[in-house]
Amino acid sequence: MSAIITATGLTRTYPLPRQSLFAEPGVVTGIDDLSFEVQAGERFAIVGESGSGKSTLLRIIAGLDAPTSGQITVGGIDVSRPGKHIKALRAELQMVFQDPMSSLDPHMKVRDIVAEPLVAQKIPYTADDIDKLLRDVGISSDGADRYPHQFSGGQRQRISIARALAPQPKILIADEPVSALDVSVRAQVLNLITDLVRTRDLTLVFVSHDLSVVRHLCERVAVLKDGRLVEIGPTEQVYAEPQSDYTRRLVAAIPTIGKALAGAETSDLLLGNEPEEADAQA
Ligand code: ADP
Ligand code: MG
Repeated sequence: MSAIITATGLTRTYPLPRQSLFAEPGVVTGIDDLSFEVQAGERFAIVGESGSGKSTLLRIIAGLDAPTSGQITVGGIDVSRPGKHIKALRAELQMVFQDPMSSLDPHMKVRDIVAEPLVAQKIPYTADDIDKLLRDVGISSDGADRYPHQFSGGQRQRISIARALAPQPKILIADEPVSALDVSVRAQVLNLITDLVRTRDLTLVFVSHDLSVVRHLCERVAVLKDGRLVEIGPTEQVYAEPQSDYTRRLVAAIPTIGKALAGAETSDLLLGNEPEEADAQA
């Protein structure tokens, strides 16, 4: 295995508005001195409570933001500094966001949404290619000429996954991709991501505040707290023997089967039930 993402001393601070003319300008820490590698083909999770720096880190990996200091290469491309060279990253890496509604243009047909990255990268494609991508994510081809609002939340997230896969990236990064979905459809979308990552041999970087979501999906997990890496290791090891109180608390927050039975929603996830998606295609 070889590293496909290498980060060294990665730091991102955000300037605070000055409190007074005489006060030193303060900063908010997004991420603080992160060093780690992700191996090609690995399924890597980044977990931590809200505000721990997960999205800051993902945006930097995706070349959407630059670190204040430190180095990062992704697929051999130096994404530490903004510039035209970042364009080459789009062919290597694609992203799925938390809220599929706000990441899909409501005025565009699904067909054009999925084709967007191909158009942007001047990659030739046919209507059949788009239909196939949609089929691969479980959307029937008559969906291609509809608009995002005509689909359920889970289906919209499937459409954003099809768009992400269109340029055949090597790396898929996902920022809480199931957190905004109804609990009943989470397992379905997670299973879809799992299948696609396996069949397409993708490297996956998956962010979640919820450890139960990444447990069976990712082989290795990094735990962030206040922008710092508190723990990194094989998922089973981190879950079985958390090295910090913080990680122990995150692990303890995972719903157990007993708790899950009290609320049917979480049992679907834990027991791998696959209810039919409630709101069918309009
Ligand atoms: P997470 O995704 O884990 O919830 P974020 O990466 O969004 O965490 O945020 C980490 C920290 O950086 C938080 O304290 C947050 O308030 C701060 N932060 C994130 N983005 C910005 C920004 N654009 N401007 C100022 N502060 C920010
Ligand atoms: Mg976030």
